[in-house]
Amino acid sequence: MINLQAIDDAVGADFHCHLDLYPEHIALIGECEKLKILTLTVTTTPKAWPRNRELTESCSYVQAALGLHPQLVSERANELPLFEKHLAETRFVGEIGLDAGSRFYSSFAEQEAIFSRILSMCAEQRNKILTIHSVRSVSKVLKHLEKNLLPFNGRVILHWFTGTENEVRKAADIGCYFSINDEMLKSQKHRNLILQLPLDRILTETDGPFIQRAGKPIRPAQSTLTCVELSKVRGLEPYQMKNVILKNAKELLAYI
Ligand code: MN
Repeated sequence: MINLQAIDDAVGADFHCHLDLYPEHIALIGECEKLKILTLTVTTTPKAWPRNRELTESCSYVQAALGLHPQLVSERANELPLFEKHLAETRFVGEIGLDAGSRFYSSFAEQEAIFSRILSMCAEQRNKILTIHSVRSVSKVLKHLEKNLLPFNGRVILHWFTGTENEVRKAADIGCYFSINDEMLKSQKHRNLILQLPLDRILTETDGPFIQRAGKPIRPAQSTLTCVELSKVRGLEPYQMKNVILKNAKELLAYI
């Protein structure tokens, strides 16, 4: 369980990574604990949850989330009952969401059915914190969030958000947070979008191991470097950006 007191000495925050997809899964959990990196490690199938939970339940800084990745819905929709079974065991949900990219569009109707069902289960249990994928489907994702969950029955972090300025405003209005990664900071278009984000809704993420730094899968501790890059975009000193991120993280995690 994340210990809210421990958050006071956290040095960084990675709100979306996949520790269980690194060969050194266990060592990385230890590294995040030792270096005091608040880490939300997502899962992609409900079957992966029990092991992830077991490995993180005694952690102070690392928390696992229960997920059903939209890109896996076509093969894993049958795990939805398992998702439902485990949901009461955690406050953290992800990776979930929608993906309307060409490779996954054929399962889009099924993705929507599952996403909507997961959101209503989360709303019913309240108090959940969700990290959400929204590739080419931001307006649909926001519509489902408004219908089923926000603004009162949960908290949402939009992971690797690539919507429009209008969608930023809409998402912020219903209470969403935004987790920013290295790849987003490389694009001028996304840097412009990041300038529109309310400062009190910004978090950092790595999405490791899917993002590389210096030719190797990025590690959660390197989210502190992402924070430095982000400070330049926002015109803040690195320590100010870090304080903003950690304050936002603390407010989010203290949500009841
Ligand atoms: Mn991911």
